[in-house]
Amino acid sequence: PIYFDNHATTQVDPRVVEAMLPTFTQAYGNPSSVGHLFGEESKRLVESSQQSIATAIGASATEIVFTSGATESNNLALSGVLSQRRRRGNHVVTVTTEHKAVLDPLEQREQQGFEITRLSPRQAGDDLAGMLDADQLRQAIRSDTALVSVMFANNEIGVIHPIAEIGQICKEQGVLLHCDATQAVGKIPVDVERLGVDLMSFSAHKMYGPKGIGGLFVRKSGPRVRLQPAIFGGGQQRGMRSGTLNVPGIVGLAEAVRLSLAEMNEESQRLAQLRDQLWLGLNERITGLQLNGPQLEAAEARLAGNLNFAVDRVDGEALMMNVREIAVSSGSACTSANPQTSHVLQAIGLSEDLTRSSLRFGIGRFNTTEEVDFAVDVVATAVDKLRKLIA
Ligand code: PLP
Repeated sequence: PIYFDNHATTQVDPRVVEAMLPTFTQAYGNPSSVGHLFGEESKRLVESSQQSIATAIGASATEIVFTSGATESNNLALSGVLSQRRRRGNHVVTVTTEHKAVLDPLEQREQQGFEITRLSPRQAGDDLAGMLDADQLRQAIRSDTALVSVMFANNEIGVIHPIAEIGQICKEQGVLLHCDATQAVGKIPVDVERLGVDLMSFSAHKMYGPKGIGGLFVRKSGPRVRLQPAIFGGGQQRGMRSGTLNVPGIVGLAEAVRLSLAEMNEESQRLAQLRDQLWLGLNERITGLQLNGPQLEAAEARLAGNLNFAVDRVDGEALMMNVREIAVSSGSACTSANPQTSHVLQAIGLSEDLTRSSLRFGIGRFNTTEEVDFAVDVVATAVDKLRKLIA
């Protein structure tokens, strides 16, 4: 089968593997063991990786906390802020289309007495479906709002929210902004200064790095973000997140970020071409396809490698069963262990049926034009077959 599920996870780039290898068998010291050369070497590797990751997103090295991935980063950010005594109140603003790794921790807090406002983005049919309007956010902020959490790019429909504008509003209102940038870092330019985010989550395995390593940017300048740690122990990372550092992961994350940044411009053009080829090819052979998310022409509003569409007059489950020669996702495979219909597609107003019969392609670094032609054929053949069955 051909892999097209790059929003769920990615193949590790062989160049990333190459960079990581020495940390397993040579530079394997504990970076906290600074009494000997092994530890010192690992510490140096961690520090240079941290510096290069920080530079890539416009931060400074001490503003990066390493975690096990974006789920942990989101939890640390949200719980960390909300566990502290805050100047303002117990109100949080987020969006209905956030990843579960934001929605679920907030729901936990809701049960403890926090008030959560979940804003609804633009609905299906709109040219910018899935996008949150900055003005809507402005109106939702109250004098007791402690935190705003809005993702940068959505993992299902690829929509890119106007984070810089949102950051400006939060700054004006004195509210902290957390941004889940898991699908953005490595794909589109991300600069924490320009965006005005106070906390920002990211993960290596979405950008051709290894699984189990990610980071949280925690702003130091300005109104210092006070964060309650979630994991206590040896006091690593200035007490922010205890536990022996994942040196191979950290080195891999740094190399993944470096490569993605170096190749970003060319790569996003190439991905957009593949995506257009896929969409055109599908529409030549299949009638009644409905694009989910922003129009493809709105290049600034959508991740280049994302295509998500609903196929009418087919059963979603049967469709998935008949396209097994390609790896795609219906809804969000990376969200949950038990497959549910996509809360994102429902939140932009899709019917249950169309939600079920939607396919998500995440085109990635290793996909080719030949593979896209193959995917068109697989999907078109499957849809033909299924529609003939019900005709
Ligand atoms: N946030 C977004 C937007 C995602 O796409 C994902 C992917 O699963 C996550 C968070 C969770 O990331 P991780 O797998 O690194 O915990």
